Amino acid sequence: MTTHERPLDSVLETIGRTPLVRIQNAPDGVRIYAKLESFNPGASVKDRIGRYMLERMLERGELSAGGTVIEPTAGNTGIGLAIAAQQLGLDAIFVVPERFSVEKQQLMAALDAEIVNTPTDAGMGGAIDRAHELAEELDDAVVPQQFSNPLNTEAHYATTAPEIYDALDGEVGAIVAGCGTAGTLMGVARYALEQEASTHVGAVEPEGSLYGEFVGESRTEGEYKIEGIGTHDPNTNELFDPDLVDAVYSISDRDAHAELTRLAREEGHLVASSAGAASVAANRVAERIANGDLDVPAATVVTIFPDSSERYLSKGVYRSFEEWTG
Ligand code: PMP
Repeated sequence: MTTHERPLDSVLETIGRTPLVRIQNAPDGVRIYAKLESFNPGASVKDRIGRYMLERMLERGELSAGGTVIEPTAGNTGIGLAIAAQQLGLDAIFVVPERFSVEKQQLMAALDAEIVNTPTDAGMGGAIDRAHELAEELDDAVVPQQFSNPLNTEAHYATTAPEIYDALDGEVGAIVAGCGTAGTLMGVARYALEQEASTHVGAVEPEGSLYGEFVGESRTEGEYKIEGIGTHDPNTNELFDPDLVDAVYSISDRDAHAELTRLAREEGHLVASSAGAASVAANRVAERIANGDLDVPAATVVTIFPDSSERYLSKGVYRSFEEWTG
């Protein structure tokens, strides 16, 4: 399941079928598993949607061979789309707010994509607007728009979720994942709830993000260092469906950083801040199960580690908390 044992014809075929690995630090009687998405060729969970969205859009005639894909992205989606675009004969342009990691932008350029930066102050909303402006200026250009495209969610419903259920023979009690676009969590949650309606679905966001408000929890808007998850801007949370979510776990930069550091030192996982946050939240859910607070179909929590820390070394991910956030 988690390996590709036969020779493959293209890098696109290496996407998915990532390993699901048990987390050693878990409360007694509860198992936690993390799906390691850095095993994808572009080293993140977003390779899945890159391939899935472009293949479906080509099939439907929304894009044609030789066309251009333009996407506002923090980077991982750009890398995933760049790989797929290149292999499917499309050009790619990415609109990236300046605050995002330099490594990701270099990788997108290496994959032959063009990068357009927008001011950090304009947020992801500014990048989305710029992407649409560019699409109007070019012939045969399409903005897949990961933030509102149901194909984003569908990619995870079709690939990530069945991989998890196959690996665990359906023994899943809770799904816990960070929400950026929320595509990963929504796709996996929809599949999980079809298998077993009492599965606990936990969304993960940084402290300062506002997803919690959608499920009736109070939140204070603020800045955070955790990269790839959270929402401030109404344009970036259209895929989030509160009806599928039982709780939104709000994780501090400090806790996420302590956990990503621990995961490297103790468990050999070189993962970044959104995985650190997901791991903290998975542990909270596991504690709730251990204490009998949650009625779940199995004492097994599954989370997603979206990418690798190597992509954030220049941002001091393994320095002290003060240096990382400073
Ligand atoms: N972690 C990282 C590092 C990411 O780049 C993303 C995507 N923005 C996520 C988590 C969240 O994934 P999703 O957009 O599917 O919610």
